[in-house]
Amino acid sequence: MKIILLGAPGAGKGTQAEKISEALHIPQISTGNIIREALNSGSEVGLKAKSFIESGKLVPDEVVIDIIKERIAKDDCKDGFILDGFPRTIAQAEALDSMGVSIDRVLDINVADDVIASRLSGRRVCEACGSSYHLVSKKPAVEGVCDKCGGTLIQRKDDHPDTVADRLKVYHEQTEPLKAYYEKKGLLRVVDGQDTVADTTYRTFCALED
Ligand code: AMP
Repeated sequence: MKIILLGAPGAGKGTQAEKISEALHIPQISTGNIIREALNSGSEVGLKAKSFIESGKLVPDEVVIDIIKERIAKDDCKDGFILDGFPRTIAQAEALDSMGVSIDRVLDINVADDVIASRLSGRRVCEACGSSYHLVSKKPAVEGVCDKCGGTLIQRKDDHPDTVADRLKVYHEQTEPLKAYYEKKGLLRVVDGQDTVADTTYRTFCALED
C-alpha cells in the first residue's frame, strides 16, 4: 500500500506513520528526518537545506523531489511506503505523479492551529535517531533520554514559537491546497487528530480500510 500523510507540522503525522509502518510492514519515509540527517552529516543536500529548515521555510522542490526519487527506488519500498511530510507543494505532488507512483490513500491529520502551537512547544526529538516525544503526552521512560536508542532528547530549532508561526503560514499557503488536489482524485480521507494518540490511531486505521 502506498500512503501519503498530510497535515500541519505537529499534527502527529510522524506518530501515525510509525504505527502504520509497524502494522503493515512498509517503510515510513520522512523527508524532514532525511533532511535533518543530511544537515547533521554536513552533506551537500544538508548545506542546501540548512537556511530553509532553520527558518521554517520549505526546502526547494527540486531538492526534496530528488531525495524522494532516490528513496522510493530502494528495495524496501517495493511493497509500498508511507510518505510523511511529502508532498508539501502542488509541484511535488505533480512530480510524484510523473514518477508513475500510484497512491492508494491520502490521510489528512486535521488539528487546529492553537493545538498545534502548544504541541510543538512541548515536542522533544532524539538527536541521534529522530524519534519524537512530548513533555506531557509522550514522555520517555527516563527524562531527556530516547527509549529507542539512548540518544539525547532536544528541542528542534524550528519548534521555537516564532518559527512555528512561520511554518503554519507556509503550511496553509503551500501545503493545504494538496487536500483539494487529492480530493479530486478520490484519495483523500480526513482524520480528526485533536484527541489522544490512541483515538487518532483508531481513526487512522479506519480511514485506511474505508
Ligand atoms: P518536518 O520534520 O516534516 O516538519 O520537516 C521539517 C522541515 O524540513 C520543514 O519545515 C522544511 O524546511 C523541510 N521539509 C521537509 N519535508 C519537506 C518537503 N516535502 N518540501 C520542502 N521542505 C521540506
